[in-house]
Amino acid sequence: MKRFALILFASVAMAACGNAPENNAATETPAATEQVISEEAKKLAGPIDPVCDMEKESTWTEYTVHNNDTVWFCSETCKTAFNGNPDKYASKLH
Ligand SMILES: [Zn+2]
Repeated sequence: MKRFALILFASVAMAACGNAPENNAATETPAATEQVISEEAKKLAGPIDPVCDMEKESTWTEYTVHNNDTVWFCSETCKTAFNGNPDKYASKLH
């Protein structure tokens, strides 16, 4: 159990650095570990609504472009909040 946690931590740490060339190791880990890593990767790289932290869903239609990045919002309310203070929320995007 302890060893599993250590491997998990190491994998997440690698992903966090954006430096994950060792995909060989990832394919050999149990499915549960892959699930955690992909969830973590989504948080780091996937589009989110930076105002309410929701993961982007295909139904979303509200977005804006900030520093050449498309930023998606779950609702017009979040989009308005972002546009009112983009610097406050933009730090969550990367
Ligand atoms: Zn939202």
